[in-house]
Order: sequence, then structure tokens, then C-alpha cells
Amino acid sequence: MTTRSIAVSPGCAYRRTGSDPASGVRRLSSLTGREREVLLMLGTGLGNRELARELGIAERTVKAHIANILDKIGQHTRTQAAIVAALAHDVLCVDRACTRHLVRVAGQRDEVSAA
Ligand SMILES: [Zn+2]
Repeated sequence: MTTRSIAVSPGCAYRRTGSDPASGVRRLSSLTGREREVLLMLGTGLGNRELARELGIAERTVKAHIANILDKIGQHTRTQAAIVAALAHDVLCVDRACTRHLVRVAGQRDEVSAA
């Protein structure tokens, strides 16, 4: 049997690092409508050039939006912001045809009919 020094995790990474994306979710109300739209797009993992094309704005405007978003939701990197976007999809997404919403709505309908 080989001996490998695998560190045993001392606990939750969020707790250990003090960097929990949930804190960003709680600060979404400080964002403008456009910033919410940019944040949701950021969750797709697209780069700035692609985001600019999708949103119909200049790349420098995308960068400015992202800087403002990071500041407002208390995150340091676009990756952290993208995680916030994924966690907060239901709050950020206003597309009523979005399939993620349809799953949720179907669940709620089941709860209502069971009552
Ligand atoms: Zn959606």
C-alpha cells in the first residue's frame, strides 16, 4: 500500500476561505436592470467580446458593467460573479419561456393541486 499525503479537508471551502457566493446573491437588489442582465449573461461563461455582441454594446461598456457589478455584489472576480449568476438565476432571469422557470412552475403547480 502506497502512502500518499492527501490533506483531509478541514471543512467547507466557503467557510474556510470566507468567500461565499451566497453573499453576492443577497446584494442583487443594488444592481440596475441592465447590470442584472449583464450578470445573468456572465453566468453563461462567455467572454467580454461575445457578451458585447449578445448585448449589442461596446466591449468597454461590458467591462464597465462587470466592474460595477463586482463592486456592488462584493465579489472579486468574474468567475465569482458567474457563480452568483448561476445561484440567482430565478431572480435574474425575466424570460417567462425559460425552461428553468418551467421546471419550477411545474413543481409549484403540483404543490397547489396536492393541497
Ligand atoms: Zn432563464
